Amino acid sequence: MNSIYVHIPFCEQKCKYCAFASFDNQFDQVQKYFDALQKEIESSTFEFRIGSIFIGGGTPSAVSPSFIAEILKAIRKKFDVDKNAEITIEANPNSLNEQKLKEYFSKGINRLSVGVQSLENKQLKALGRLHNKTQVFKALKAAKKVGFKNINCDLLLGLENQSYHQLKKAIKSLKKYATHFSFYMLQVEDGTPLKSMVEGGRIKLPDDDKVVKIYHKLVSFFRKQGLKQYEISNFAKKGFECLHNLNYWARGNYLGFGLGAHSFVGDTRWANASNFFDYFAGKKAFVEKLDDKQVAEEIVMLGLRCNLGFDLQQLQKFGLDLENNDHFQELLQNNILFLQNGRVKINPDYYGVSNLVIEKLIDF
Ligand code: SF4
Repeated sequence: MNSIYVHIPFCEQKCKYCAFASFDNQFDQVQKYFDALQKEIESSTFEFRIGSIFIGGGTPSAVSPSFIAEILKAIRKKFDVDKNAEITIEANPNSLNEQKLKEYFSKGINRLSVGVQSLENKQLKALGRLHNKTQVFKALKAAKKVGFKNINCDLLLGLENQSYHQLKKAIKSLKKYATHFSFYMLQVEDGTPLKSMVEGGRIKLPDDDKVVKIYHKLVSFFRKQGLKQYEISNFAKKGFECLHNLNYWARGNYLGFGLGAHSFVGDTRWANASNFFDYFAGKKAFVEKLDDKQVAEEIVMLGLRCNLGFDLQQLQKFGLDLENNDHFQELLQNNILFLQNGRVKINPDYYGVSNLVIEKLIDF
């Protein structure tokens, strides 16, 4: 499959933990940015049939939906977008309303990804998020009313004073609306206010052991709730797995448009510059052609973080022969990995330690 990612780098306020390419003080660049985005799409040299589009950020819901509509129009004009394509937009609860949602839906956006992060107002405030629990449910109710059937809720793990009980309660109440959950570990990134808060003792985050315990409990809770884990951090009702992410893990082609957006076609990966000045000048942050070793590593890394697994024979073509590898045989014997129709897959009980499994396999 081929996918398109569009990056919208505007946010109403920078969250305290955020190290993404997003800006809360550049709204005067919106028109110029969308003009540049449109030009970038129009001048693409690829002629792909597109199975998924993901409009992410930043906060796409922080700009007028008319900008989003124009971008979708430009994509449809340039590419052959499948009529059943999955089209996702990321949104924050405080910048969503029924009117906006109606406009998204009428333009063919059929999947909504809401940055819930937590349902505890104290935690939201500590993270510098602009919304509260009431706004989350208001936005989700409006999305249902408008007709969205495919809704993801992003949640954060590893927050101050976060308990399994809180998360269980949150999932139960969000499940009335959501078909998909993405759970991300809070990362303390260099240069963020969160880092200074942690270093200055103004916030006390739970230790890794506690977070891992909560994660494992959540995995079994999701299972009981009929939400299948199909990747380390992703859980979905049957038939609601995110096609866009699956394409990424399957190493399908994807074109990224916008500031800082990454692309991958064949064996080449590249990224746009991640500041406005260089992006407007058409500069790239990097272009990299993968060699066989890198391709083999990627096949293993991406395949084992989700339920797709990887093709053993395909791997051999890139110089990684696992069949004669002792670590591989041991992982199979211990039922940590298993074979299914020529594909190597990870036992879902071991998603949490998939990094260690991958390390063992690609140490060649
Ligand atoms: S809304 Fe998302 S992208 Fe924007 S500042 Fe917060 S974490 Fe970063």
